[in-house]
Amino acid sequence: MNRPFNFSAGPAAMPEEVLTEAAAEMLDWHGSGMGVMEMSHRGKEFISIYEQAQADLRELLAVPDNFKILFMQGGGLAENAIVPLNISQGGLVDFVVSGSWSQKSQQEAGKYCTAHTAADNLANGHTSLPDPSQWKLNPAARYVHVCTNETINGVEFHTLPNLKALGSNADLVIDFSSHVASRPVDWSKVGLAFGGAQKNLGPAGLTLVVVRDDLLGHALPACPSAFNYKMVADNQSMYNTPPTYSIYVAGLVFQWLKRQGGMAAMEARNIAKAELLYQAIDNSQLYQNKVASDCRSRMNVPFFLRDESLNAAFLAGAQTHRLLQLKGHKSVGGMRASIYNAMPLEGVQALVDYMQEFEKTRS
Ligand code: PMP
Repeated sequence: MNRPFNFSAGPAAMPEEVLTEAAAEMLDWHGSGMGVMEMSHRGKEFISIYEQAQADLRELLAVPDNFKILFMQGGGLAENAIVPLNISQGGLVDFVVSGSWSQKSQQEAGKYCTAHTAADNLANGHTSLPDPSQWKLNPAARYVHVCTNETINGVEFHTLPNLKALGSNADLVIDFSSHVASRPVDWSKVGLAFGGAQKNLGPAGLTLVVVRDDLLGHALPACPSAFNYKMVADNQSMYNTPPTYSIYVAGLVFQWLKRQGGMAAMEARNIAKAELLYQAIDNSQLYQNKVASDCRSRMNVPFFLRDESLNAAFLAGAQTHRLLQLKGHKSVGGMRASIYNAMPLEGVQALVDYMQEFEKTRS
């Protein structure tokens, strides 16, 4: 099917193969006589879907045995509370404020712990990343929170900070909502990673948490049982009813990712897509991206028309060229092209072609 290219930041475009597979299995999953959303989460059919999804994700992201993979609900914003409820012990936590999402995380965490700012990039409007060597890490910090890809501002840590090398014994907590599964993860640097599924893993409703075993079991008494990582882990993510259909579709995405060649192949493809788009922006007179070149996001590319009065015409033209959902986040304006795993290189090329054509007609 010749579908338009969809640049939504999330919920975002899905691999077409996955949608086709899910559609074919909608009424009857593998001869069971049931669709997946009609199955008990405790039945053997769904348990097999769940176990396969867990195993495939562990293999794809090379998650070590001493980490649990939890399938939760509530999204990234719920995790902003759930993480400190589980692992802050009400103490001090360092935040690296690099954009809108880490700012939100810090505000929410402040209800449960002392949310200290170790570094921020407010002075340059979130267009670069504070160098880890300059972070003011507090020796008493229980963990350091970093949003490794700021979806709205378009800044990405292409490598994870090594806290030990910075003299800190704190655990690194990453919000990888908007770059999960776009590149390999160095788990030796990470204590906990979380992210909503709706950008790069599958449908909204599923939240992924990957947490090192020794961080389980330290929740504050006020932590709701359904959000207590130990409770969730001890019950194989089925303390309460999990988002079964979202887990199933995410499982199909994991299999698709394996067929694409896994994380190294996806990373190479994502770098190529991002380079194509940033080059087109940098080479134009009309478009601009304000982010420092060493930390430009490979997933979310915000760009601005130097003549903002052309914004509506640009978006209307994009729509007729079947390039969807390019409007920037309301807090920053302009445009944003989200180019997650499911966006093929041809989609980015189609966008670049349209951008160049639009610029020509306006000059
Ligand atoms: N963190 C990041 C980096 C995000 O991009 C988002 C959503 N855009 C969130 C957190 C919030 O996630 P949710 O909407 O799933 O709560």
